[in-house]
Amino acid sequence: MGQITLRGIRKSFSGVDVIHGIDLTIADGELAVFVGPSGCGKSTLLRMIAGLDRPTTGTIEIDGQDVTRTSAAERGLAMVFQSYALYPHMTVRQNLSFGLENTRMPKNDITARVDDAGRMLEIMDLMDRRPTQLSGGQRQRVAIGRAIVRNPTAFLLDEPLSNLDAELRGSMRAELAGLHDRLKTTMIYVTHDQIEAMTLADKIVVLRKGVIEQVDTPLGLYNRPQNLFVAGFIGAPN
Ligand code: ADP
Ligand code: MG
Repeated sequence: MGQITLRGIRKSFSGVDVIHGIDLTIADGELAVFVGPSGCGKSTLLRMIAGLDRPTTGTIEIDGQDVTRTSAAERGLAMVFQSYALYPHMTVRQNLSFGLENTRMPKNDITARVDDAGRMLEIMDLMDRRPTQLSGGQRQRVAIGRAIVRNPTAFLLDEPLSNLDAELRGSMRAELAGLHDRLKTTMIYVTHDQIEAMTLADKIVVLRKGVIEQVDTPLGLYNRPQNLFVAGFIGAPN
């Protein structure tokens, strides 16, 4: 399960509105991409879904349950940021298992989950290294692994590849798409990169200055942009 519904979400910081009333449903298993120029409110929206920030008004539901007032931990979602935020003094294995050690999960199960994620991401040979001994792409894989081991209801990814070079970004993007195909877990992927949005998404949500301009499939957006902003942003000719 992993249907996420936003109803009338608004957010202001010190009286300044940055999100102006968002209504949106992301279906269970869907890969939704939030795309839009820098400063349009993508991260703010994702942080509210994650439970790291509260909407000023509006409600957030996960599988029909109102979670607006619950903590991030209670929501069962996993967030991946562009800065990997790995623990520098821990090995890869410790980084992967750390989040599970405060739960009641038996040690054997933790090891099995970490190994599963490690195999899926092909980082088994890196388990004893520390983050400083990894390349950027390897670090990002570990960050994604840390989300996978939690077996979340949904993955929330905020520009996870933007620190990588173009070539690596392309291959990691394909890996993420493959991961979504395998796990079939709801993913919300935030990016300012139109190509990333067009190649990854089941559904694209185009944001501009805190409002949704259009929600459609990549093909739908390309063929039927609702206004000049969407057309210009997606790069369609009309
Ligand atoms: P994006 O992720 O699309 O680049 P953000 O969600 O980070 O955009 O920011 C949207 C707007 O909200 C920006 O104008 C930003 O300056 C503002 N903003 C974000 N977080 C805060 C905050 N904690 N305090 C004040 N303003 C903020
Ligand atoms: Mg952002």
